[in-house]
Amino acid sequence: MPLRVESIPEEKTRRPLRRLFLLYHEIRSGESRYSYAIESGMFERHLDLLVRLREAQDCDLWPELTFDDGHSSDVEIAAPLLQSRGLTARFFITAGWTETKTGYMGWAEVRSLHEAGFTIGAHGWSHKLLTHCSDAELQTELGRSRLTLEDKLGVSVTTMSLPGGRANRRVLAACAEAGYTQVYTSVPRAESLPLGATVGRLNVAGSMQPEWIAKLFQPDGRILRRLGRRYRMKEAAKALMGDRLYAGLWALVSRKEPGTDGGGEGAE
Ligand SMILES: [Zn+2]
Repeated sequence: MPLRVESIPEEKTRRPLRRLFLLYHEIRSGESRYSYAIESGMFERHLDLLVRLREAQDCDLWPELTFDDGHSSDVEIAAPLLQSRGLTARFFITAGWTETKTGYMGWAEVRSLHEAGFTIGAHGWSHKLLTHCSDAELQTELGRSRLTLEDKLGVSVTTMSLPGGRANRRVLAACAEAGYTQVYTSVPRAESLPLGATVGRLNVAGSMQPEWIAKLFQPDGRILRRLGRRYRMKEAAKALMGDRLYAGLWALVSRKEPGTDGGGEGAE
């Protein structure tokens, strides 16, 4: 089914309209113990809320959707639910997992998302945390992934999202060098237009109720600011403890699934 073109009503463009990008991963038909997988019924409730928020008269924070990793459920479950509501989204694909890793999309599926009108971006080659990569590894994670996506889809790919949300100045410079004009992070913050070189996102956990998500869009922005403070504290903890130790502890507390790379913040 072709995607209906999203248009922002004219009266809403008369005042500054900021964006809040939400980050989803995998959609499951049943309950999940993996923190960042969301049950499909809950996901539908989120989507219905986002449609209502966009339609609200006093909307000044416009919700946008993104998906990381390229899980098969994104094309099988999420895409039809988005299409039935006329919503677009950005899908960030782990290029080296495509066609090779169980549970993740093949190239035909990525192509079908692109042809349906969704935007495709890169999410590294093998989902390595970019801050841990040598210069040669950065070449593969950033350059090879972009070129492969472009080759398979026949379009230019200029956006990427950071595996695990990890970046530093060296990584961001390498992203620009590799041809990305926008890097999507996991820093929870609202964005004004035009978007800058880095774009913040709220990482949505499967346990987040729509009522709680709605609070993020309240005009005073209190909850979003609180999340931003908490994120900065976590970043400071990582800097103190070392990234690897922090990732290990986080995997424990966020119930990372054994045998998968998708778990906790280490695999956003
Ligand atoms: Zn990821």
